[in-house]
Amino acid sequence: MKHAEILGWLRETSPGRLETLWHRADRVRQEYVGGEVHLRGLIEVSNYCVRMCMYCGLRAANDRLGRYRMTPEEVLDCARLAQRLGYGTVVLQSGEDDGLSAEMVAGIVRQIKAETPLAVTLSLGERSPDELALWRRAGADRYLLRFETSNRALYERIHPPRPAGGYDRLELLGELGRLGYQVGSGVMIGIPGQTFADLADDIALFAELDLDMIGVGPYLPHPHTPMGVGLVAGAAGNEQVPADELTTYKVIALARLVCPRANIPATTALATLNRQNGRELGLTRGANVVMPNLTPVRYRQLYEIYPNKACVSETAEDCHGCLRGRIAALGRTVGRGRGDAATSPVPCSTTSGSNEYAER
Ligand code: SAH
Repeated sequence: MKHAEILGWLRETSPGRLETLWHRADRVRQEYVGGEVHLRGLIEVSNYCVRMCMYCGLRAANDRLGRYRMTPEEVLDCARLAQRLGYGTVVLQSGEDDGLSAEMVAGIVRQIKAETPLAVTLSLGERSPDELALWRRAGADRYLLRFETSNRALYERIHPPRPAGGYDRLELLGELGRLGYQVGSGVMIGIPGQTFADLADDIALFAELDLDMIGVGPYLPHPHTPMGVGLVAGAAGNEQVPADELTTYKVIALARLVCPRANIPATTALATLNRQNGRELGLTRGANVVMPNLTPVRYRQLYEIYPNKACVSETAEDCHGCLRGRIAALGRTVGRGRGDAATSPVPCSTTSGSNEYAER
């Protein structure tokens, strides 16, 4: 799909024409990854963070947030629960927490892999290539690291580097692929200063990176962050991308069209914008994954990357029952097994001129 076409869809306002985008994404989803919806059990292992990202409630300077770090045994208990609930994957996510030592993470991964058949996804932010290699050897299967925006200047405005110098996320994504991880990335939608052209570039980059997993969600302002109190200016004219539901569906659908085999979640951030049926609409417009929260309830409200997160006070069992019901109501089935990304004979592409997606 060409850049101009992606941009056209991002600006599209006609409900009738958008119906054709939703249908096309849904058809491609069915054709390439089928009707199964994979459940990934999310374990938010620590909310400590050394970073100062301008939008995120976990930023180091937010001293109004109580901090926690789960013990290896607590993480293991969550993984056991995931197995009992029939999930194929656990996702270990955290702030950039140097207190989560490389050895500790490797030990947790080894034990999950020894005790359960679960696939393990890590989402622990920027860590050294040596640490990423250690975790891969310990058995980690996948890594999620969003590049957040492909606009360099905007990226730098909202991501002050680590005090001791950081890593380039795109380089790390390359490294993750070389290490044999299934690689996931993604962006926030509606970052102040993000234009439609930027977002079209982001989608083209999903294809270029040939991602196995693509996670996108609306930017949600957090009042205890600089961006949440309006310190980053929006783009001029009509160019600012809205941080809304409709744009999120467009990006999910376009991600599906440019990367037909990717695993794409209907995210919690989307469910936060529309608690009633945000996830369902995501699942019928290109998504094939949901991420029920397994974090112990006492920690869950502390993993506050943005406020009013959906499903924050439900137990893992309630979350599970609710999502199963929603999937069944769509006429889809809960995925069995690990739900790995299918290896593609043809990588994702933005360039093929006469492709089936060009028709509007
Ligand atoms: N420290 C890890 C995990 C971060 S939380 C990492 O850096 O990869 C996972 C994702 O939440 C981030 O990649 C970001 O895209 C999203 N996020 C953070 N703050 C947010 C906000 N205020 N609104 C919406 N999404 C947010």
